[in-house]
Amino acid sequence: MAKVVVLGSGFAGQTAALNLRKSLKKKDHEVTVITPNKKFGYVPSWVWVGVGKMDVSETQFDLAPVYKKKGINYVNGLAKEVHVEEQFVTVDLLDGGSEKVEYDYLINATGPRLAYDMTEGLGPDHGHTVSICTPNHAAEAGEEYLKMVERMEKGETVKMLIGTGHGMATCQGAGFEYIHNIAFDLEQRGLLDKAQIKWISNERMLGDFGVGGMVIGKAGHIVSGKIFAEASFMEQGIEWITGAAVTKVEAGKAHYKTVESSEVQTEEFDFAMLIPAFAGVPIKYITKDGSDITGDLCAPNGMLKVDADYSSAPRGFDNWRKEDWPLTYQNQTYKNIYAAGISFAPPHPISKPAASPDGTPIVASPPRTGMAAGIIGHVVAMSVADIVNGKSSEPEHTASMGDFGAACVASMGKSMTRGSAAVIAMYPVVPNYEKYEYGRDMDATFGDQGLAGHWLKALLHHLFIYKMKGKFGWWLIPD
Ligand SMILES: Cc1cc2nc3c(=O)[nH]c(=O)nc-3n(C[C@H](O)[C@H](O)[C@H](O)COP(=O)(O)OP(=O)(O)OC[C@H]3O[C@@H](n4cnc5c(N)ncnc54)[C@H](O)[C@@H]3O)c2cc1C
Repeated sequence: MAKVVVLGSGFAGQTAALNLRKSLKKKDHEVTVITPNKKFGYVPSWVWVGVGKMDVSETQFDLAPVYKKKGINYVNGLAKEVHVEEQFVTVDLLDGGSEKVEYDYLINATGPRLAYDMTEGLGPDHGHTVSICTPNHAAEAGEEYLKMVERMEKGETVKMLIGTGHGMATCQGAGFEYIHNIAFDLEQRGLLDKAQIKWISNERMLGDFGVGGMVIGKAGHIVSGKIFAEASFMEQGIEWITGAAVTKVEAGKAHYKTVESSEVQTEEFDFAMLIPAFAGVPIKYITKDGSDITGDLCAPNGMLKVDADYSSAPRGFDNWRKEDWPLTYQNQTYKNIYAAGISFAPPHPISKPAASPDGTPIVASPPRTGMAAGIIGHVVAMSVADIVNGKSSEPEHTASMGDFGAACVASMGKSMTRGSAAVIAMYPVVPNYEKYEYGRDMDATFGDQGLAGHWLKALLHHLFIYKMKGKFGWWLIPD
C-alpha cells in the first residue's frame, strides 16, 4: 500500500489529487489531501467578486463531500513540517490539535505565501490596500469598491490605484483584469469621469505579464502585446506607471522607485489593490536528527527546488535557455517529494531583470497561471501513479514551461450582453529565441478581444468548477 499525500487544494493540488485517485486503486493505495481550506475557490472569478459583480459563494464549493465521494482522505489543516527521512508531515488542524500524516510520496502544491509583509503598509490585514488574492479579501475588496462607487455617485472624484505592490511581484494578469473590470463597471454606471484610475506595475512595459511580453499574430500581422495593452488602457482613460517598485504604503499613499530613478515618488489614492510579492509557504523540512534543511531544499523565497537548473540564474538574461526550466518537478535530494503549481522555485525570471539606480530589483516574476498549475499537477500525479503502479522507477511525465503553451482569457468587463475579455494564447510560455524569431511560435500565439471572450470566460468558470468537483467525465476537460 502506497500513501500519497498532496499539500494544498488549489488548481495544482486538486488536479493532482483527482488524477492520483483515478490512477491508483482505492483498495491498494491511499491518497490524502492536507489543506487549510474547507472550500475549493475558483480564483479567476475573484476579479468579479472584487467589483461586487459576483458573490464569493458562487466561486466556491465544499471539499469534504468531493473527497468522500472520491475516496480521498481529507486532513483539514496547515502542513507545518515535512520530516523528509521519516516521511511524515506534521499538520496543525484547523479544529485544534495537530496530526502526523505519513507519506511514501509527497506533492507540495501549497501555492504562494502572499508576502504583504515584504512591503511596509501593504495589504488588507495590516496595511492600507485591498486584495483579490483570497476569497475573503476579494469579498472585502468588493465592499470597499462599492463604497467608492457611492462616493462617486455623490459627486466626489476618487483616485484608484491598481497593480503590483512590490518590485518582484507576479500575477500582473489578475491586476490587469481587475483594473479593466473597474473601468468597465464605472462606465456602465456612468461614473467613469468621476474616477482617476491608474496602473502601477513592476513590468518594464505594459503587457509584459512576467513572461517577457509577447508579440501576437493577428489578421496576418505581428502586433506587440505592449500596443495591445496600451490601447486597452487608453480606451478607458487609464494612466500607467511601469518599471516601478512600490516600497511603502501609508494611508492613501503609495511610495515607489522606478528603473529610471531611485528618488521616492508618491502616488495618492482613495482605493488601491496592489498584488503582493509571492513567496513559498512557511513549511520546514526536517531530517531524522532534527536538522532544519529548509534552506537547502528551498530557494531563498521559500519555494521548493525541483529539477530546474538553478545554476543558470547567474548566467544572466542573454544566456538563459528553456532547458533551465523543470521537466518533472521532482525534488532532486528527496526524490519522493515533488512541487506543483506556484510552489516550485523557478530557476530565474522570464522577463529581463532590471533595478532602480540604487539597486532595488524591479522585475515581474514568472507567473504560474491556473492552467500551468493544472498541467503541472497532472503530470506530477501521473508520474507518481506510474511509479506506485510499478510502471516506471523514475518520473516519466514531463511538462516544461519552455514546451507548453498557455491560454489566458482576461476579463475586461462582466456583462453577458456588453462584456468583453481578451483571449490570448501563447506557445511556449518561456520564449525560445533560438527556435522562434519572436520567441514564440506565431502560428500558436494570438490574441483577440470581444464579447465572445466574456462568454468563454463565463463558460470556463462553470467548466472548471465542474472539473474540480470531479464530476462525471471531469478528466475530459483539459487542464
Ligand atoms: C485574482 C486572481 C485571478 C486570477 N486569474 C487567473 C486566470 O484567469 N487564469 C489563470 O490561468 N490564472 C489566474 N490566476 C492565477 C491562478 O489563480 C494561480 O496560478 C493558481 O491559483 C495557482 O494554483 P496553485 O494550486 O499553485 O496555488 P493555489 O491556488 O494558491 O493553491 C494553494 C493551496 O495550498 C493551500 N495551502 C497553503 N499553505 C498550506 C499549508 N501549509 N499546508 C497545506 N496546504 C496549504 C492553500 O490553502 C491552497 O489550497 C489568478 C490569480 C488571482 C489571484
